Amino acid sequence: MTVPVVLAHLYPRRMNIYGDIGNLLALRRRLEWRDLPVRVVTIDEGDRFDFEEADVVVAGGGEDASQLAIASDLVERGPAIHRAVAAGVAFLTVCGTYQLFGRRFVTADGSEIPGIGVFGAETFGGGTRMIGNVVVHSPWGDLVGFENHSGRTRLDPDQQSLGKVRRGNGNDGESGQEGAITRNCLGTYLHGSVLPKNPALADDLIRRALARRGAAPQALASLDDTMERQAAAAAAERP
Ligand code: GLN
Repeated sequence: MTVPVVLAHLYPRRMNIYGDIGNLLALRRRLEWRDLPVRVVTIDEGDRFDFEEADVVVAGGGEDASQLAIASDLVERGPAIHRAVAAGVAFLTVCGTYQLFGRRFVTADGSEIPGIGVFGAETFGGGTRMIGNVVVHSPWGDLVGFENHSGRTRLDPDQQSLGKVRRGNGNDGESGQEGAITRNCLGTYLHGSVLPKNPALADDLIRRALARRGAAPQALASLDDTMERQAAAAAAERP
């Protein structure tokens, strides 16, 4: 393949906590290790970008104030993001952006931050934060990550989750659900960052992206994931 795989990082300036940039780095490295060329694009508020030109879009978490700061820009991009999701572009949204890919986030102090409704979900801030390592039973195996959020996310009955919480809180600490998935758009509370420790999930995003380009669904060359597995096992042991 000679055309570079386009990795788009949405709101790197404001939405990038707990090492969420590691998701971009993991995708980049896993492509480069397989000799697939990569182009990284960053998109902050006001930057022009056609999401259908991206192969994978990653977006991280942020404090309520950062979410408020990017909300109007995100809402403006809403229709374009919906078109990209419908066209099969792969997205990974974490925590603060996951919440805003739902319909809205009502913070603990009662302010409402509008979302774009890619996920049938709403989030309500609570008085306590949900903090710690999480283990999620999912189609990609057990996913491991670190959560830190006050928001409780409730999925609509027909909204698919990413998986079931085995340890930790996940979406709301009650439903047993973690994350959401609509077409190739994934949302999750897992920081850590999530992709370096969960290579099966990283490779699945890459596969989805390559399939959209019409690449033969050939198996990606396998990589030595010994360190990644050790990192996941170490995090899964910790509270
Ligand atoms: N501000 C949001 C919350 O506390 C998201 C936090 C985050 O992205 N870690 O729920």
